[in-house]
Amino acid sequence: MYIVLLGPPGAGKGTQADRIAEATGLLHVSTGDMFREHVRNGTELGELARSYMDKGDLVPDEVTISMLKERISRDDAAQGAMFDGFPRNVVQAEALDAALAERGNKIDRALLISVPDEELVSRLSGRWMCRECGRLFHERFDPPSVAGKCDACGGELYQREDDKADVVRSRLEKQKPPEELIDHYRKAGVLHEIDGQKPIDEVTPLLLEALR
Ligand code: ADP
Ligand code: ADP
Ligand code: ZN
Repeated sequence: MYIVLLGPPGAGKGTQADRIAEATGLLHVSTGDMFREHVRNGTELGELARSYMDKGDLVPDEVTISMLKERISRDDAAQGAMFDGFPRNVVQAEALDAALAERGNKIDRALLISVPDEELVSRLSGRWMCRECGRLFHERFDPPSVAGKCDACGGELYQREDDKADVVRSRLEKQKPPEELIDHYRKAGVLHEIDGQKPIDEVTPLLLEALR
């Protein structure tokens, strides 16, 4: 099964993807995590990506699509995957459709997580992420058991540079899923809209239900 998770920054895509992966064994593919890994490793792609990420802009389609295509060509993605943060626009969606079609696959579900703007700001400004495994926490809504430490791996938690107030605003303006992208999946008959305003533990079963 191939799934895309859609929603604005802070909607809970990464958080829910981790939980769905635990419940179903589906592979979680996050383009944001992949870019951050390149930044950490100081690769050429990381340098390029960072210049966009720091401003709250999208990384150009060409590099993002080729990174994603390489990822899904690996063996562990042959049975299915859940895409978090990809596609961000119709060009990326069509590239994903084409890459999957080459292997006789398609997107089976597009889960749109909807959350009002006011809520997104407080989610992003309180977000903490594990430096080692990428697990997500929130200082108020989903605090770690021990302050500053990841429950999953014991790694150090940090606040992303692009979660600082000025970049958050620009990401929220520039990175909402465009209406044409939502339409792309609506037309394909695979779109499910989920109320993402509920607490984390109440959203997960709604998503799992939509995957049945
Ligand atoms: P968030 O979870 O806050 O929405 P992500 O971790 O998904 O953020 O992405 C972080 C940054 O990585 C984005 O602001 C953007 O610069 C870049 N990025 C991630 N995915 C994509 C994509 N599919 N296309 C272009 N840029 C992307
Ligand atoms: P996205 O990947 O869509 O950008 P995240 O999964 O990173 O969103 O969630 C953003 C922040 O909001 C994280 O700190 C996370 O712990 C928190 N969060 C996620 N879902 C909820 C929810 N349903 N209620 C409250 N906080 C949430
Ligand atoms: Zn961790």
